[in-house]
Amino acid sequence: MIAESAIQHFISSLRGQIFCPGDPGYDAARRVPNAMIDRRPAIIARCAGAADVIACVRFALEHDIVVSVRGGGHSVAGKSVCEAGLMVDLSAMKGVRVDPLKKTVRAEAGLKLGEFDRETQAFGLATTLGVVPDTGISGLTLGGGFGNLMAKYGLALDNLIGVDVVTADGRLLSTNASENSDLFWGVRGSSGNLGIATSLEYRLHEVGPVLGGAVFYPVSKTKEVLHFCREFAETLPDEVVLQGAGLKLPDGTPVFAVVVCYCGSSMQEGEKVLQPLRKFGSPLTDAIQVMSYLEIQSMFQPFFPPGRYTYVKSNFMHSLNDEAIEIIAGFADKSPSPYTFAPILEHWHGAVARVGVSETAFPHRHHSYNFIVWSNWEKASDSEKNIQWTRQYWEAMQPHLVAGSYVNYVSDEGDAFARAAYGPNYDRLVSLKNKYDPTNFFRMNHNIKPTKAAQAVS
Ligand SMILES: Cc1cc2nc3c(=O)[nH]c(=O)nc-3n(C[C@H](O)[C@H](O)[C@H](O)COP(=O)(O)OP(=O)(O)OC[C@H]3O[C@@H](n4cnc5c(N)ncnc54)[C@H](O)[C@@H]3O)c2cc1C
Repeated sequence: MIAESAIQHFISSLRGQIFCPGDPGYDAARRVPNAMIDRRPAIIARCAGAADVIACVRFALEHDIVVSVRGGGHSVAGKSVCEAGLMVDLSAMKGVRVDPLKKTVRAEAGLKLGEFDRETQAFGLATTLGVVPDTGISGLTLGGGFGNLMAKYGLALDNLIGVDVVTADGRLLSTNASENSDLFWGVRGSSGNLGIATSLEYRLHEVGPVLGGAVFYPVSKTKEVLHFCREFAETLPDEVVLQGAGLKLPDGTPVFAVVVCYCGSSMQEGEKVLQPLRKFGSPLTDAIQVMSYLEIQSMFQPFFPPGRYTYVKSNFMHSLNDEAIEIIAGFADKSPSPYTFAPILEHWHGAVARVGVSETAFPHRHHSYNFIVWSNWEKASDSEKNIQWTRQYWEAMQPHLVAGSYVNYVSDEGDAFARAAYGPNYDRLVSLKNKYDPTNFFRMNHNIKPTKAAQAVS
């Protein structure tokens, strides 16, 4: 129990808002898009700036309470919401300043992708971020950051120049290539394990318009489409990012969609590059067109309304071989829910693969395909059958999946799964955890246990 006077002192020391159980706004503040997550923090501190974040860490340290950190709240595992602890909510920290001459941007940690893109696009600039604008820049970037510009410019975290981090002892450290460079290495891929990022500085690039969108095929053609995509993907320049997805359209039509974004400067060249796709087979619809970068970045938002139940299984693939294609085609349109993506296949290539495995803490550089079953449904009573089906599909794919997965797509699967997500960089991350967070203060994440905590468990 914490004395009421201590809580009152903490509350009055903050510039931002506080929500406690029973307060108006408490339920909205603890809610995240995934309805599976229903936790009740004792205090939610909606920080107004870095000083509030420091105050939160010091208060939690002093009173030995668990802390969770909310950026955009999109963690499918719901790691941003703790039970009975202090939720450090960064969602009001939305300061952003673009330097169009240097082509950089300094962004506070509560920005969402759509907000960030809007500010940088005002100058014709952008950097790699994900494809759903409501996602938070922080969680996405600190875990990796797959998106439409990835093959040309690397992951979101490959574009980081510096990150301000509040560490487990309540200090704010600037991290970049020359200051606290070990921590800078670690925050790029360790998904919030080493501290709370209060602001992030990114490199920007001239981007837009783009040639992109989706070609939709009847789901019965999944096998043929995947065989085509495997060959086509080999021909793609860095300017193109390609994804495939099995889904149902809003009118209920089951389709296999091939989604592309060409971000080069010549639309004519883009037409040439994408022509084989647009000539392939007999699609239901070809919705590829020239559009603004902001348009392509918001294309997927309607497919992910908040409040649905979500469960995700995902791993990188050894290869997209004939047998894997056979399994994927077999599971097409078999999900118990019309809102499920089964699967999403992301094609990873280009700049992301030219960064060494140990250059940043993010290790998964050399697998061409990321396989994801992204199940969404509407009623709690449907949870069991949807989770079971997702696992069945993933089990069937096992022979074709590598051990590691992209940490940002991991549901709550326990320590071994989390460990595999950090791959060969795990031991170096443990050393950093020992240095910067030896008591595992930051543990509401896909956790890297410092040595003492790991010993205590074993
Ligand atoms: C609909 C949807 C679409 C997605 N699309 C993409 C995509 O296109 N590309 C892609 O790469 N990923 C994508 N993701 C995955 C996404 O990257 C992760 O869910 C990511 O964790 C979201 O970040 P967030 O800030 O919104 O989440 P949060 O839930 O707020 O945070 C996620 C994790 O990061 C920690 N964290 C958050 N902010 C900070 C901070 N400032 N400092 C320290 N730790 C912090 C949290 O504690 C938590 O452990 C998508 C997810 C969803 C639900």
